Amino acid sequence: MVAPPLIENSPPAERRPASGSELAALSVPAVLEALGTDANAGLPEAVAQGRFRTVGPNEMTKRAQVGPWIILLRQFQSTVVYLLLSASGISVLTRDYLQAAAILAAVVINAFVGFLTELRAQVSLQALQVLSGPTARVRRGGHEKVLPARDLVPGDLVILEAGARVPADVRVVQSAALRVDESALTGESVPVDKAVERIPDQEDSTLLFQGSLVAAGRGHGVVVATGDATRLGRLGRLLTETVSTRTPLEEKLEELGRQLTVLTILICAVLAAVGVWHKEDIWMMLETSIALAVAAIPEGMPVVATLALAVGTRRMVKARALVRQLAAVETLGCTTVICTDKTGTLTANQMVVTDLVLCRRHLKVSGDGYRPTGDITENGTPIWLPEDRVLVDLMKAVALCNDAHIENHHGTDIWHVHGDPTEGALLAVAGKVGLAHEALLDKYPREAELPFDLGRKRMTTIHSSADGTWVAYTKGSPETVLAVSTSVRTQDGQERLTIQDAQWIKNWNDELASQGLRVLAVAMRSLPEAPVCVDVDNVEKDLTFIGLVAMSDRPKRGVNDAVDKCRRAGIRVVMLTGDQPATARAIAQELNILDPGESEEAVLTGSQLDKMSEPKLALALKKARVLARVTPEMKLTIVRALQSDGEIVAMTGDGVNDAPALRQANIGVAMGRAGTDLAREASSMVITDDNFSTIVKAVEQGRIIYANIKKSIAYLLTASLASVLTIAVAVLTDIGLPLLPLQLLWLNLIMHIFPGLGIVLQPGDRGTMSRPPRRAQERLLSAAVQQQIWMRSLVVALAVLGAIELERCLGCGRVELTTVGFATLSMSLLFQAWAWAGWGARSPAVAKTAVFGSPMIINMCVSYGLLIIAIYWPALQAVLQTTSLGLREFGVVLGVSAISFALTALLSVLMRRRKS
Ligand code: ADP
Ligand code: MG
Repeated sequence: MVAPPLIENSPPAERRPASGSELAALSVPAVLEALGTDANAGLPEAVAQGRFRTVGPNEMTKRAQVGPWIILLRQFQSTVVYLLLSASGISVLTRDYLQAAAILAAVVINAFVGFLTELRAQVSLQALQVLSGPTARVRRGGHEKVLPARDLVPGDLVILEAGARVPADVRVVQSAALRVDESALTGESVPVDKAVERIPDQEDSTLLFQGSLVAAGRGHGVVVATGDATRLGRLGRLLTETVSTRTPLEEKLEELGRQLTVLTILICAVLAAVGVWHKEDIWMMLETSIALAVAAIPEGMPVVATLALAVGTRRMVKARALVRQLAAVETLGCTTVICTDKTGTLTANQMVVTDLVLCRRHLKVSGDGYRPTGDITENGTPIWLPEDRVLVDLMKAVALCNDAHIENHHGTDIWHVHGDPTEGALLAVAGKVGLAHEALLDKYPREAELPFDLGRKRMTTIHSSADGTWVAYTKGSPETVLAVSTSVRTQDGQERLTIQDAQWIKNWNDELASQGLRVLAVAMRSLPEAPVCVDVDNVEKDLTFIGLVAMSDRPKRGVNDAVDKCRRAGIRVVMLTGDQPATARAIAQELNILDPGESEEAVLTGSQLDKMSEPKLALALKKARVLARVTPEMKLTIVRALQSDGEIVAMTGDGVNDAPALRQANIGVAMGRAGTDLAREASSMVITDDNFSTIVKAVEQGRIIYANIKKSIAYLLTASLASVLTIAVAVLTDIGLPLLPLQLLWLNLIMHIFPGLGIVLQPGDRGTMSRPPRRAQERLLSAAVQQQIWMRSLVVALAVLGAIELERCLGCGRVELTTVGFATLSMSLLFQAWAWAGWGARSPAVAKTAVFGSPMIINMCVSYGLLIIAIYWPALQAVLQTTSLGLREFGVVLGVSAISFALTALLSVLMRRRKS
């Protein structure tokens, strides 16, 4: 089999590098050399960019992309267009060529408006797809950065960790127990080992393929193939098949549209028959009924909804929330419970050690951030270190039992942490007593370790020293460390850990935790020689307790306000954390998630939840606000229990173990910064700033979008129904046609879409987050809204006929009368657009924010403009058969429309009164 070249279209001057499979067989230095990559620094930025220009982006050739032409063509495939074409045909038959041309023009104009709107929506959605697409951690020019995966080029050095998707085909250059799930390619879901050297009897053991998932371990690799040249690309398979972008709401609207279409065509046929029976001109009647059908079919509905979703998601992007599934936007507005992680989402995850507790002593630590300077004081006086052997041991322990790394930023005084912030804070405090991490590790090399896991909540590292002795350091949650400690470190050596000592330590833990501090316990165990068997049971026992370390983590900015907003909006916030209940409770109170006087039932621990049966759990969670000592695995159970109680749950997560809960939640929210690819793929929304308040902003947008769609659809239906009723009443009572077919088309095809767009683009009103959440099973148009639509269209229809009758009595001719009918119907419906924009607002002040936004004003001005030119511009007068209205006629139009508006407002108040 001949593999395609690695770099296609490369200029002849550039030596053609070997293909991916050829590279797989080479040694690591040879691969790096072939691709010009430095093992530490990666590719120089300039080389990477040059290569990008020749190789192109790392994505598979797009298939079946919906281009602008397709969107344009789609505008002509609708019942409305077919009806119009037949109307145009009839006009030709009756030799009314101007009208035939005008109808065709209307078709084109209408298609164009639809095209522009849909194109705008699509462009926003595509931009969103690019933004929320896969990313890759790479090292280029010596710096580590996160890039969109499409920017990768052959030769890039990528860093892979558990939970990451492999972003291209990659040759392993460094591996620490790397295991990869290749089921995306092979269907085989048992993870396989990958290594730098070929593993015997295992094909491709040095290659990672795009689309596979790092199941465990970590490693570095160099990209050997991108885009279509990857194995997945050659299989011609897209990893993330573009799922149907139709949301349930859009589908519902299309269904409604279809039903209304059938209904209108039936009604129109009946009306045509009645008209003919009343001796109206047959052709005229046919045209009118077709025009009526066109007017009545709410062809704008799906367009309005699509645009609302697109624009809304773009607003969310600005607020730092990326929607991965459009359908989530609808659900967002129904959210009743937000389950959020504490550390990193509610709090900044910037830890600073503030207190130390040693055997019968309490010390305070000063300083901020990860800077390793500050004082340690006891009863207000600084401590003189070399004498304080317990403190030195504590500091040695926290620095050695540590996987983080702190460094200052390019020689400035700003310090950063790489790794776990909890551990960074420990390195900073060790620095404050002059212990540097690297120097300590040189002296006491790490020989073995028992890594941290959330089940044990401890970790242990084992170190040797020059004198041949060994020591194990353990740190973890106070209860789990105390449980395996039997003695306590004192100034003179060590003593047996008495019950009193243990109680004293527990009291201090409670005291510090109740201040909202995260508390870790630290212990050690001297080993006379190298341990034979390094496992939890043999090492983590008979420990000597050294002390407690307490650190603070401040709430993120904006979180307090966001929590308050949720309260007003009827959304329950539940905090989830691995920390102990006392710490969790204190932070929850500070953030106002928990009221100070709230009952004990609001705080639950993982061990309590574990013991409960499912119905009992659902009951317990009804009142819960804080869940402490929970593991990611428990999140799934929690989501299910809440859902079984009818809640609509948003759940945050970032790790591999969070993925099932994210998938199960109604809204899975992944953290953009801290999150793994797996968590992101399982989520329906990604928060790019990892901040709780962004979730709340997204919920708010979800509510606004839904409410706007609802109001806009209600308006479009009012407009359609009013047109139908006007004509229907006129035909049935035999008072002659109140407006001409072309005028109806102008009104419904061209004018009405603008108020519809105006309503849907509104940024939302101030009352959005002071209403309770909408129920998920609620219909788009409730019975109350349906009644409003009927009432409003009836009033408008009667007003139009009234205006015509009034003018007839005042002696107007036929052309004036239809013009008055057209103008009154238009004007009254524009009044109704304002009314619908403000629908649902509880107070005039809130209504003002709902009605007078720039999208509404601009679109309404366009509509008024279209009305004025239809009446007064001679060119359009000729087409639409209108005539300039005098001051009196126009006064009647305006007066009658205003009266209809006032009447609908009054009736609406009365209808709402009667209901409540
Ligand atoms: P959170 O939900 O706030 O992120 P974690 O699940 O990360 O909390 O941590 C749970 C508990 O595990 C902590 O309260 C602490 O007692 C312990 N712990 C966390 N990180 C470490 C660590 N690096 N070393 C030892 N113990 C840790
Ligand atoms: Mg954590």
